Amino acid sequence: MKVLVLGGTTEGRLLATALAGLPSFTVVSSLAGRVRAPLVLPGLVRVGGFGGVPGLVDFLRSSGISTVVDATHPFASSISAHAVSACSLAGVPLLVLRRPAWTPAAEDRWIPVESLAAAAAALASFARVFLTTGRQGLGSFASCSSWFLVRTVDPPAGSRPARMELLLDRGPFTLPGELALLRRWAIDVVVTKNSGGFAPKLEAARSLGLPVIMVDRPPVAGFAPVVSTVDEALAWLAA
Ligand code: NAP
Repeated sequence: MKVLVLGGTTEGRLLATALAGLPSFTVVSSLAGRVRAPLVLPGLVRVGGFGGVPGLVDFLRSSGISTVVDATHPFASSISAHAVSACSLAGVPLLVLRRPAWTPAAEDRWIPVESLAAAAAALASFARVFLTTGRQGLGSFASCSSWFLVRTVDPPAGSRPARMELLLDRGPFTLPGELALLRRWAIDVVVTKNSGGFAPKLEAARSLGLPVIMVDRPPVAGFAPVVSTVDEALAWLAA
């Protein structure tokens, strides 16, 4: 079985690694090419957009893909919608692998918002912001008067907050490290997308009593089956 893993996430990498070790599977990982130095992946790897739904349909047909696993980030809604349409057109089964969303604990002070623009609007009463929503979309915060500590994997391009410090880091992060960071920069609010996964920044914010502006996930497109772990995805593929 030749599996196309739409990746760019930890789950995509772990799934590709597991499939590469199984003789009955050939794995092709697809990355958008946003990160300058992506972590090394086993199996076949292709990088860059397909050219919309028609390009993805062509790729599925010409590469003999038998199944697609959409393991992209929960906020990568264009490629996920394209996968739904292209798989339907090409008659290829699709599985969605989405890590579970974070849910607040009783002590958490979350401010849920629907978009980056709404997150920016919610910052009016905060002075020092820890922004971890990624380098794309920084322009949403360009007109905010707050000071920002912005953490991204690669340097951002385009518009950005006027007053900011850039921290280039891809993790993995630790609770002591996140606590030290929030204290060192006297942060009074954290802004994040509800990406899910391991996130000591949320634990650090909770233990310091800091509010977290939490950007909600977009809805999952289409009606493909959804699993939340790599093991579940492997079981679905093997069935
Ligand atoms: P997006 O808005 O859904 O996708 C924009 C375009 O990028 C797609 O239409 C597609 O181009 C191309 N693309 C996206 N993912 C691709 C993939 N895995 N393989 C090949 N082409 C891909 O996605 P995004 O939010 O820019 O995210 C890009 C990548 O970064 C995704 O793979 C995602 O898993 C990863 N990522 C995103 C976030 C986030 O916060 N959005 C966070 C961490 C990682 P064509 O139409 O030309 O095919």
